[in-house]
Amino acid sequence: MPTSSAETLYHRYHIETRDAPDIAAWPPRFQVKVKKHRLAWLLLREIFHHRGDKALITSRPCIYGVFSGPIGGFAPRPHLCVGCLRCTTQYPDVVQIAPHPERQKLGDMYFTAKVVDTVAYEARTGRVPVRGAGYRGKFGGPGWDGMWTDMSEIVRPTRDGIHGREYISTLVDIGARPEYLAFGPDGEPVEAPRVFAIPLPLGFDQLPRVAEQPALARIVARAARELDTLALLPVDALRQVSDPGPEVVPVLTAAADLDAVAFPPRLVELARWDAALAAAAQERFPQALLMVRLPFGDRATLEAAYAAGLRVFHLSADYHGRLPDGRFVMDGIREAHTFFVQRGVRDAVTLLGSGGIIAAEHVPKAIILGLDAVLLDTPVLVALQARFDGPFRTPTDGYRLPRPLPEDWGVQRLKNLAASWRDQLLEVLGAMGLRDVRRLRGEMGRAMFQTDLEREAFGDIEGFPAGDGAAPRPAAMPTAEVHP
Ligand code: SF4
Repeated sequence: MPTSSAETLYHRYHIETRDAPDIAAWPPRFQVKVKKHRLAWLLLREIFHHRGDKALITSRPCIYGVFSGPIGGFAPRPHLCVGCLRCTTQYPDVVQIAPHPERQKLGDMYFTAKVVDTVAYEARTGRVPVRGAGYRGKFGGPGWDGMWTDMSEIVRPTRDGIHGREYISTLVDIGARPEYLAFGPDGEPVEAPRVFAIPLPLGFDQLPRVAEQPALARIVARAARELDTLALLPVDALRQVSDPGPEVVPVLTAAADLDAVAFPPRLVELARWDAALAAAAQERFPQALLMVRLPFGDRATLEAAYAAGLRVFHLSADYHGRLPDGRFVMDGIREAHTFFVQRGVRDAVTLLGSGGIIAAEHVPKAIILGLDAVLLDTPVLVALQARFDGPFRTPTDGYRLPRPLPEDWGVQRLKNLAASWRDQLLEVLGAMGLRDVRRLRGEMGRAMFQTDLEREAFGDIEGFPAGDGAAPRPAAMPTAEVHP
């Protein structure tokens, strides 16, 4: 029963987006190379042809203004180029467009420059990137690209969450639920569910060196508060956050860390499985749920933590989505989900995952594979225009954020990113005819795997890889570097 009028009010979840332009000067995406003598000859011809109409002459061939500076194409403005190739198509002997080599150095071999561009756009605008018609790239590949979602718009074409015609819930439950309700002689449930809800299946993982960067800690905590989600923070970073609330999840490495937690958290993370630490944390915060961080693939520790009563698990891969044994994060998610399904207790636990989830499309894919929600790591840094010092695979690898890092700007960038990713999740759910993201969890029937389809299509053809055709999934995930 609602206890106050506020609880009876319907609240439709909405993320306020606002443009948050880049503050760090990144190299432009494209190089615009103009052959000046050919341009001069072209201009002479055009001046003659258009009878000296300056506005017309300087407006072409680029409607984005790349050649509309004070001296036109003699000093092009590449930062305005969107790479439409209109100019080079019409005047291939005058202008050439190429990717800017410095821009290509953003990110690393996993978080490629292309994905950096996408995440930066999402964080800047809060909108869904639109690539236009005529995609000519690959339709499959290693890692996440080998998994496709089955979206049949015909299922329910009116179920359109972005445009609001029918509400699609992205709310997920975090916590522990009994498999069934049992009541004692007094009519009260023997074991009550211990869950809370967050309105989107996205939170923020603990970021490397966050404790040394007060602005970063404040940005992540405030963004989590405004999004009503979770921000994992080491206890060293808690003092940077004024008035931490339920959005902050303290990460404990030892019992001594408990003294640094001066507020009642609703969720506490243990940085590793430690039964004594779990007992101490539960004693100090009896109302809080405990979550343990484990690497994907560590079944023995997962079993031990579950047997000890933990029901919320944060499973992590490295930032390139690699498990300790070299497999890809998709294998780890399926394995963990199956681990609990086979024991008949999947609905009693919550699985959060991090590592290698760097694009909006990875969220529904991770949920289909078995996660309840994801915790973002490197996308948070890229949204804040961080530059990696080299391959960024573990928390000990280096990165640099813009300095200073304005708090309001950072919060808005993370809210924009969350809004864009949520909209893309709504697109997937709408196209599948689902109106609750919780229905997507473990729905393998909503996914197709390239290896399966290739095996079905070509398995009988001589020369196709022996055995059952393509390598079986999930072991098909490559052990070499994976590009999203
Ligand atoms: S590629 Fe397109 S945006 Fe870039 S300079 Fe040419 S016409 Fe302008």
